[in-house]
Amino acid sequence: MDRLLRYEKTFINIHNNIAIAVLIYILIFTISGRADELLWIYVILAVVSHGINYFIFKFDFFNKIQLFYSIKYVQILLSAFFAFEQVNYTEAIGSIFYLLLFIEVIIATGRHSKLSQYILSAVFIFPIIISYIFAAYTFNYPENIGIDIVFFMSSFIIVIMGLGHIISEYAIELNDQIDIQRNLVFKTKQSNEELITTQKKFQEAHEKLTVQNTDLEQAYKKLNRASSEMYIQNELLKYISSSLEIDELMDMVTDSIIGAIGVDTCSIIIYDDNRDVYQFKIKSTYSKDYTKSLEQFINEGKFDKYFKSTKAFTDNNVEQENYSFLDDRTVGSLMIMPLIRNNLTYGLLIAEQKTNNTFVDNIQFFEGIATQIIIAISNANLYTKMEEMATHDGLTGVYNRTYLQTRFSEIVREAIMNKSCISVALFDIDKFKRINDTYGHLFGDEVIKMAARVTEKIVSINKGLVGRFGGEEFVMIFPNKSVNETLEVVKEVQEAINSEVLYHNGEKVIVNVSTGITNYPDICKNPSELLNRADLAMYYSKENGRGIITVDNDTLSK
Ligand code: GH3
Ligand code: MG
Ligand code: MG
Repeated sequence: MDRLLRYEKTFINIHNNIAIAVLIYILIFTISGRADELLWIYVILAVVSHGINYFIFKFDFFNKIQLFYSIKYVQILLSAFFAFEQVNYTEAIGSIFYLLLFIEVIIATGRHSKLSQYILSAVFIFPIIISYIFAAYTFNYPENIGIDIVFFMSSFIIVIMGLGHIISEYAIELNDQIDIQRNLVFKTKQSNEELITTQKKFQEAHEKLTVQNTDLEQAYKKLNRASSEMYIQNELLKYISSSLEIDELMDMVTDSIIGAIGVDTCSIIIYDDNRDVYQFKIKSTYSKDYTKSLEQFINEGKFDKYFKSTKAFTDNNVEQENYSFLDDRTVGSLMIMPLIRNNLTYGLLIAEQKTNNTFVDNIQFFEGIATQIIIAISNANLYTKMEEMATHDGLTGVYNRTYLQTRFSEIVREAIMNKSCISVALFDIDKFKRINDTYGHLFGDEVIKMAARVTEKIVSINKGLVGRFGGEEFVMIFPNKSVNETLEVVKEVQEAINSEVLYHNGEKVIVNVSTGITNYPDICKNPSELLNRADLAMYYSKENGRGIITVDNDTLSK
């Protein structure tokens, strides 16, 4: 029914045009004086017919095809009647109306089969014949009524029928094409919308992926960092259980913090309270060696402030002028981590990085490192102490007999290999028992300590070794020293001990020693006999007045 309405819409325009055409036509007749009284009836009829047509269209009555046909048929009958009316101009008006209405119906009803074309033609020819017969009998002058009009209109109807068919075919085709185009446009629009939706979804997915990517990147960074941190901690652990040299430890820590964490410069300063010195190390990705200046800064007390602190210090937006120990390095972030034991700072771990905000979430890691460094240092100190205990005499601090014998064997081996000499000297404090008895054991200890200290001082200058051989007996070993050279050193030792005055309750106590010297290979040919021979020579000194030096010779014997 849509199509019918569509056609009718077009025909409303046709109707309007026809109505105007008829009015002009009638106006010309009136002006030229050829109109008669019937004319106005026709005018009114035409206007009413058109009005009805318009009204029916306006209120969608054309949606009912039967109503459409009925009205059209009435209009056609009226037109046919006019066509055979014997007033001079009505034939023309009637015929035009008739044919136009016919065309209208043809187009409005659309596609026709061949049979319906014949039926339609017949249906439309029928009113002409009826009107003709009616006119012939009513007006009773059939000779005046042109039978030729009947033939003309009938053949016109048949021609129009054919043309209408072609036009309607074409119109339908056109319509179908328009429908297809419209569908196409609709579908394109739809897929366009789908495309936009998909695009939006893609964009959302892309945004989500970007976020996920950032998350992943961060996770990766964290993982990477954790793995670097673990690597360093592992190295430190390995270190703690293997090597115990503090210098090596500092090397390892600075190298791995630069390598695995990626800072530009790393320094360690450790205060050795046994020796009251600072041990330090500075490593940097800059080719320059900053060791000298670090030493100077330590000595100038530039780090004292940090040594007093027990908390980590960080500055992630460093302004160079605030720090006097940065040399010419570009530093954006600085971290100074104290190495704490028993609430006391024993050292500093310092890390520097060119960029800002480096030491934000890795402080815990550096704290862990600091703890391990401290453990390693403690271990190293303990080890040093234990080593000292194993090799040194507890009272005097010089080498003990066990260690000295080990060292002595090595020195002998080297001397044999290098065909060099060894001098051995041995002394015993004279009348020591009496010192003990007179002043007490503790004072006796002080005497032993004094003798050891004085001897150690002179012997070490002369590139020799000193060891406590027994109670108040000391041995001196001089690799590569002749008897005469040794004699000079021993004289010096003896005089130094003798001139070292000790006081007991204000009383002056003078200490003397008796010494024996021997030498391989000049005097003693058998190196394993060296200590015995020195002892023998010393014994000779005791026997011959004490406080003297005896050089071993073949005539000496027990
Ligand atoms: P001589 O001149 O013959 O060597 O006489 P001397 O009194 O020194 O005799 P001797 O060497 O026999 O005496 C050594 C004494 O030193 C015996 C021992 O009680 C004492 N003594 C050994 N070790 C220590 C020690 O570590 N501290 C103290 N106070 N006395 C010690
Ligand atoms: Mg003695
Ligand atoms: Mg003795």
